[in-house]
Amino acid sequence: MDRYERVPIEEESREERVKKFALIDQPYTLEEAMIEGQRCLECAMPYCIQGCPITQDCRGYNVLVGQGKFDEAARLTLRDNPLATVLCKTCYHFCEDDCIMTGRGVPIAIRHLKRAALEFGKSDLLYVPSKRKDERVAVIGAGPAGLMAAWDLAVRGHSVTVFENEPFLGGQINTIPRYHLDPDDLDTDLARWRNLDITYVVGKRAGTDYTPKSLLEEGYEAVLVSIGASKARELGIPGENLPGVYHALPFLLAMNKRPEGLFGRTNRRIVVIGAGDVALDAARSARRLSGGGDVQLVYRRGPEDMKATEEEKMGGRIEGVQYVFFRSPKEILGTDHVEGLVVERTEHGPLDAKGRRTLVTVPNSEETIECDMVIVAVGEVADVSGFDPDYGFKFASMGWPEGTREGWMTDVEGVFATGGRSVVHAMGAGERAAAAIDAYLAKKHGRAPEPRPDPFGGPNPPELPSGYGGPTWTP
Ligand SMILES: Cc1cc2nc3c(=O)[nH]c(=O)nc-3n(C[C@H](O)[C@H](O)[C@H](O)COP(=O)(O)OP(=O)(O)OC[C@H]3O[C@@H](n4cnc5c(N)ncnc54)[C@H](O)[C@@H]3O)c2cc1C
Repeated sequence: MDRYERVPIEEESREERVKKFALIDQPYTLEEAMIEGQRCLECAMPYCIQGCPITQDCRGYNVLVGQGKFDEAARLTLRDNPLATVLCKTCYHFCEDDCIMTGRGVPIAIRHLKRAALEFGKSDLLYVPSKRKDERVAVIGAGPAGLMAAWDLAVRGHSVTVFENEPFLGGQINTIPRYHLDPDDLDTDLARWRNLDITYVVGKRAGTDYTPKSLLEEGYEAVLVSIGASKARELGIPGENLPGVYHALPFLLAMNKRPEGLFGRTNRRIVVIGAGDVALDAARSARRLSGGGDVQLVYRRGPEDMKATEEEKMGGRIEGVQYVFFRSPKEILGTDHVEGLVVERTEHGPLDAKGRRTLVTVPNSEETIECDMVIVAVGEVADVSGFDPDYGFKFASMGWPEGTREGWMTDVEGVFATGGRSVVHAMGAGERAAAAIDAYLAKKHGRAPEPRPDPFGGPNPPELPSGYGGPTWTP
């Protein structure tokens, strides 16, 4: 096999994909994984590790898989990544974007090798807490940012309580379609956490049942707000409240958890409004919901402005989603149910002060797209209603609250906030917030801050797996 060619990743055919709601990517066989792992150049300056928001030692597990040392590869993967079963199928693999082989051919299939490490190696390991500390920490929001922070703090020996509004853990991971992620993958990861001192309180909303300040008053010494951005941005056009109009996150959650409710109507003609990854997930799910029906993705700009990743755009094309560019939604038609979407044509106008192309609507260019379902996917913002304005949150461009001071602290002493734009970014943000909280508590109690110990109770710094020379570069 040519070192510059990737071992192909088998995928379901287009015809099969839209018939079922199941994983598209097929795993490598053990032999295929070893051949792909052997393509890794073991760079002295591993851009893959630097490009990963949780600085996973991906070079390490590539090499170990290439040597057939799957147990060691699984342990190394899980050492830095407590949600590895989720990430080995869903990560946008920034490591691969930065892999040096990208410039010489095709990057190493790092995400797929992570999956092989877990599937062929011993991955039912258990995390252990280090020496217990007496401080209690509260985490609000059980998405990947909050879960990663809880894991990191618990491994450091803190007692952590995670408060979650929904009756389930995982945040937006629950909306990731099943053609990307198996429904029990998050549980597989969380099963490794069972010896850590983490208590989950689900079905309780911050801002209604408690606030960060009330938790401080109850004796928690630090509170992390990691509530993500899950309140739908609205289009603000007539007809948006008609039956048959969905916002993308409730639609995708229903597809994963309660699809019966959505299958009540024929739904053969579905329009999705938006052009990001969430819009593509909604459109690709809609193709499955409608049994291969007519699904149009309406976007007010052109293809070059779409925010979705290449993988999602390509997936949509392969699965038959029709892209309708330069159309701006004006009104949703219908009396007791959606019947159509009125759009206006748009075109590029002059450049604005920042040099960006403006968009203008073309006069008298209205047209109606007939449809029986509309899914709105134009972004989300955090819902901080009921939170005290004193926190002084700033909001990231993608909508979640962040701390205003250095180290993710808000204007209120002991209250921190963070979030992220992908699962691994959210985990990286949670990991850094946890380190900041640990440093804050160490200072408060007169201790020196320490690095996170080996989560399997091994020596600190952790010993390198046998057969792998280990990084020559330290994150
Ligand atoms: C449809 C979809 C598909 C995606 N696909 C991928 C993918 O394939 N790969 C990838 O890397 N990323 C993907 N993402 C992005 C990724 O899921 C998010 O970036 C990530 O989940 C954000 O993590 P977070 O912890 O900051 O917030 P969230 O995941 O939003 O978690 C926040 C949690 O806080 C809870 N909460 C909110 N308000 C309150 C409150 N007042 N009180 C208590 N709890 C509260 C919420 O219920 C939620 O559980 C996808 C996102 C969506 C929506």
